[in-house]
Amino acid sequence: MQKSAIAIYPGSFDPITLGHLDIIERGSQLFNRVIVAVLCNPSKQPLFTLEQRVAQIRASTQYLVNVEVESFKGLTVEYAKSRQARVLLRGLRVLSDFEKELQMAHTNNTLNPEIETVFLATSNEYSFLSSSVVKEVARFGGAVDHLVPENVAREVYQCYKNHPEATLTVMNSTRPQNPSPDGPETSTSKKNSTDSKN
Ligand code: ADP
Repeated sequence: MQKSAIAIYPGSFDPITLGHLDIIERGSQLFNRVIVAVLCNPSKQPLFTLEQRVAQIRASTQYLVNVEVESFKGLTVEYAKSRQARVLLRGLRVLSDFEKELQMAHTNNTLNPEIETVFLATSNEYSFLSSSVVKEVARFGGAVDHLVPENVAREVYQCYKNHPEATLTVMNSTRPQNPSPDGPETSTSKKNSTDSKN
């Protein structure tokens, strides 16, 4: 089998996070070329368009000379073949990733046995991080600067600017009518205070 120096890193990247960037950086040290391939998935309703995601990743990886960014439609193995790549790069965070990723790797292997999937374990500090976490935090008005590259954080904030859920509202408050610094007086606490006086 001919050795491959090209790895494809496929994904949705909606948006790219520091966890993705960590995999791209480490992959770029292992392979001659890494092509980050943004999947056009018609069954998903993304926050950012395909073009926006490609632009975000290009801006975030411009300091990595052997990294390219493209978008593609259809089967990942077919796309990899069209780029003469024999490696699919994927990241693993938790056990649930492993099950899904292993199934995908096996499926891809049945479609093209020449293509191998290489997994990189997440760096500890990003093991909790996903694009969905970023969107969830931003939707409720939280900071995401520590989760995504700077250029992406700006665009995420822009998306959720004036989002109704970003305003804190305390719903169904069950605060006591007559609050005291010690909290509401219960029959037990009343009894105890009487007891302690005796
Ligand atoms: P997909 O929709 O194909 O899962 P994602 O953009 O969510 O695309 O993820 C692309 C790849 O990056 C997947 O292999 C995923 O497990 C990996 N990945 C995502 N977040 C992290 C992270 N924080 N650390 C390591 N790998 C990650």
